[in-house]
Amino acid sequence: MPSLSYASRVYDPRRVAYAAELAQGTDRFHEPRREDCPWCGSARLRTRLRAPDLMQHKPGRFAVDQCADCGHLFQNPRLTSAGLAFYHRDHDETDRGGLPDPVLAVRHGHRRHRFDARLMRNVGEPESWLDVGTGHAHFPAAAREVFPYTSFDGLDPTPRVVQARAAGRIEEAHVGHLADPHIANRLRGRYDVVSVFHHLAHAPDPRAELRGALGALRPGGHLLVELPDPRSLFALLLGKWWLPHGQPRHLHLLPLRNLRAELESAGCTILVTDRRTPHTPNDLSAALALALTHALPAADAPWRTTPPGRLRRALRAVLATPVGPLVDAVAAVDVVLSPLLRRVPGLSNAYRVVARRDTA
Ligand SMILES: [Zn+2]
Repeated sequence: MPSLSYASRVYDPRRVAYAAELAQGTDRFHEPRREDCPWCGSARLRTRLRAPDLMQHKPGRFAVDQCADCGHLFQNPRLTSAGLAFYHRDHDETDRGGLPDPVLAVRHGHRRHRFDARLMRNVGEPESWLDVGTGHAHFPAAAREVFPYTSFDGLDPTPRVVQARAAGRIEEAHVGHLADPHIANRLRGRYDVVSVFHHLAHAPDPRAELRGALGALRPGGHLLVELPDPRSLFALLLGKWWLPHGQPRHLHLLPLRNLRAELESAGCTILVTDRRTPHTPNDLSAALALALTHALPAADAPWRTTPPGRLRRALRAVLATPVGPLVDAVAAVDVVLSPLLRRVPGLSNAYRVVARRDTA
């Protein structure tokens, strides 16, 4: 006889809702395929990788194209807003069955956030700071220790930012995208610093999002952008197993030179370009975690029509036992390698740009 918790998983109302959605197929979640680069308009595209949903294992397959002219990477065909909602739903709540969460490795710790905040010390004491894509606002919470007199606001596409305000980590919470003219108008010219950490990959229109971020700055204000580097060696070597390729939730990956050119054309002076220190030591361990969890018998989830039987669950439990320690061991290798990867150009998995908005 199934246990109570097993029965509650079987009759999960979310399972009924997912079944109704999936009965209509997942093709409707994709826009028509683009024939040109959304960044520069070139028609010289090639498919860089194809991948399933390696994080939640929801049904569907996705492709990432690369522009041969400007190097921009983008999901093609792109998810519709209904598709994005479908693949983002329950993302935080996925039960990983005790397995390592590759995303946790990329969520920067408190110390790293403080380090990032300290980078802005040489531009003075900002009065107002907007963190874009702030999520639970862990960055502002840490940055506050460096800038105790600065007022921090947060913007995020999800209601997590509202919870962050309730928890006292930020003063104002804004839900949405800077590409939305209503939000852009509300925030125009208000901030001394705008920080955008690893958020542009999620933005449906990263150029509009960047323009919105610059618009939120006062003239003379500073923009801090950090992004995964799609030109790093491990991105090329690991392909779909490279965590920042992030299908289906990452829509765009910008090469550094495109970001620089965009900021300069918008009237900014680039003060800092750093392709080394923003490296997050998790390339190998996250890839291993993704590959092993992909290879295991699937765990139960609300989007599975039928829950796995007792035998499959037992097999998964047995096979999953060594996964955690194995990933931990490789995570130690990532940490040992990180000083080297930060020293050699092209090996770090992220870059950072600080720009000053010069024109009004
Ligand atoms: Zn292009």
